[in-house]
Amino acid sequence: MSDLLIMTPGPTEVSEEVRRAMSQKITNPDLDPDFFDFYLDVSSKLQQVIKTKNDVIIMSGEGILGLESACASLIEPGDKVLVLDNGIFGRGFADFADLYGAEVTKWEFPYNEEIDTNELAEKLAAENDFKFATFVHCETPTGIINNIGEITKLLNEHNILSIVDSVSAIGGVPIEVDEWGIDIILGGSQKCLSVPPGLTFMSVSDAAWDAVNNRETPVRGYYTNLQLWQNWYEEKYFPYTQAISDIYALNAALDKWLEDQEIFARHNKIAEAVRKAIAESNLNLFAENGHSDTVTAIEIPDSINYQELNQLMTESHNVMIAGSLGEFEDKLIRIGHMGENCYEEKLYRTLKAFDHSLRELGFNLNIELHKVFINKMD
Ligand SMILES: *Cc1c(COP(=O)(O)O)cnc(C)c1O
Repeated sequence: MSDLLIMTPGPTEVSEEVRRAMSQKITNPDLDPDFFDFYLDVSSKLQQVIKTKNDVIIMSGEGILGLESACASLIEPGDKVLVLDNGIFGRGFADFADLYGAEVTKWEFPYNEEIDTNELAEKLAAENDFKFATFVHCETPTGIINNIGEITKLLNEHNILSIVDSVSAIGGVPIEVDEWGIDIILGGSQKCLSVPPGLTFMSVSDAAWDAVNNRETPVRGYYTNLQLWQNWYEEKYFPYTQAISDIYALNAALDKWLEDQEIFARHNKIAEAVRKAIAESNLNLFAENGHSDTVTAIEIPDSINYQELNQLMTESHNVMIAGSLGEFEDKLIRIGHMGENCYEEKLYRTLKAFDHSLRELGFNLNIELHKVFINKMD
């Protein structure tokens, strides 16, 4: 297992400097004043990644904690919440909103396309009496990226606060939180930033803080209560002990990220080359449009069994890619080309393993995927 290349859309590969950072000597993060400055510095690096002056909170827990905290802290029983659904995670937001008592309206869009913002504009013109709207930036199970800037612009025209899950896009594609007026955007450590799973982070706009503060009912939760995070720096107080070693790792990953001038260009170039190779082959990309530069979903040919493919790839070719979830389980395979995974040689190895595995299972590929990929990189 030691040399297994992890090309899943999160968790991604973790670099040696990030792993080393985790082994640094720790202090008591509740008591050491230096830790509060360190934490502030790490959150300011995240502010640079997503271009915001809004507060950025880093919480100990996986991405789902960020998502649930946003829902728990903003949504009150009876609040009207619009759920934009063009994928499995988008749909899942409805369950969280429902859990916290929202009156949910779900607008479903095709799952193989990005949300059509013209259609959204029309629907919003007709119905816009919502306090919040939730949507997913990148639908990881299907490899679709939504036009977050356009969507929040429309929501802002109707004074609807946005809660955006960008777990699988933050760090891999440009995000302009302040320019686009995003109220809450949340990410996770284990996707494009290539830190082990364990942290979630989110930016909170002034309007979102107002919503959190002006509730009529108390937040039903403690770990998920954003109210407790408002003055952590001034009061030198965290609601719970911070996962300091994870934050060391995040800090190291952010330093690497901020130094990397090519990060978005590389994600785009590699993703395009992967897509072009698949498009030239007799395989099919799942997405019709809105292809994400962080993950590609490919339809599994009818003659191929996902379990067999996966086993062959991991055991004989030492590369792990992912299947999909829900109704796409056994129907799609996904290559995560985000963060530390996003290097030409890793995609070459992955596509070669995929190519060989498909052939070994009897699929008659019309091109050599890895070779076409390399040609497209020129
Ligand atoms: C990875 C991910 C999460 C976090 O969920 P896990 O399945 O627990 O990793 C949330 N939202 C999106 C869009 C993700 O890709």
